Amino acid sequence: MEQLKEKYEQFKAWQIKPHEVGQLTADKHECATCHTEYHGNYCPRCGQKSTVGRYSFKTAFLTFLDVWGLGNRGMFRTIRDLLFRPGYMIRDYLSGMQMAYFPPFKMFFLVITLYVLVNSGFNIRLQNNINKEDVVNGLNESFKIGNDENTDTKAFTESTINDTISFNGKPIAISKDKNSKKLNINHKEFDLQVYEYTKILLNWVKDHQTVSELLLIAVLSLPMYRFFRHNKMIPDLRYSEFFVSMVYVTNLMTIIQIIGKFFLPENGSVDFWAYVYSIIALKQLYGYSFKRTLFKVIGAFLVVSSVAIAIIAIIGVLSYLYIEYIL
Ligand SMILES: [Zn+2]
Repeated sequence: MEQLKEKYEQFKAWQIKPHEVGQLTADKHECATCHTEYHGNYCPRCGQKSTVGRYSFKTAFLTFLDVWGLGNRGMFRTIRDLLFRPGYMIRDYLSGMQMAYFPPFKMFFLVITLYVLVNSGFNIRLQNNINKEDVVNGLNESFKIGNDENTDTKAFTESTINDTISFNGKPIAISKDKNSKKLNINHKEFDLQVYEYTKILLNWVKDHQTVSELLLIAVLSLPMYRFFRHNKMIPDLRYSEFFVSMVYVTNLMTIIQIIGKFFLPENGSVDFWAYVYSIIALKQLYGYSFKRTLFKVIGAFLVVSSVAIAIIAIIGVLSYLYIEYIL
């Protein structure tokens, strides 16, 4: 038990400690490309690495990874640090340690690509989870398209004809036969229009995962920045810095989803754990308690969703007025 505690203390100390670059050796190198003699890790004249030797499988593999920009700048270190000390790593990066870690946006596009690959069948069950039919079926369900025999419309027409409001004790009919019929046809057409646009939008989101996710980060990080900007760890936090930190947090979440969906393609709890992990990352990064971080994130989500609901409501009211009074 004591030993376990000691191990945990060591782990915590390791988490907080920033990345250290190895000491320069006193060895003299002769560059294989330009034959300059120098001390250090890279040739000051042409930039070639001092450790370049005979071509091996290792160098071949690294050159192969380099095709996707993975061969250098510690992709593996960045993944390890994101998983085990995410908040501290992001703070190191923001404080200027940029050579130590893989750049955030490049990583973003790479991990999303890998995520799409894993979801489309590159997992242990070779199961394709990206299915546009699901989206369309779900949409059909919510719009009741395909299985209604105009029953809703009929009931609606009848009720509108009979519907009356009383005003000063006298009942007033709000709609007449002709009007209500016209109104219903327009509502039906309007629903179909909304259905079509929603389908287009959802399919676009599926096809442009990186762009839509980046847009989501941009939208969400606006209210989140308000909640996190006055933290003690990075006192004069800029929005651009906060945005970059959010990109790294998203990368972390995507990596967890990749690992989860690779081994358990059907498990839905993977997304939940990705969210928990993002709270841990923000807690380490901005120094608030787990609970306060959680409340801040929930607060930002509430702001975003109420703004979204308000916009949808305004669009709804405007299109209703358009159908009612202009068509
Ligand atoms: Zn050289």
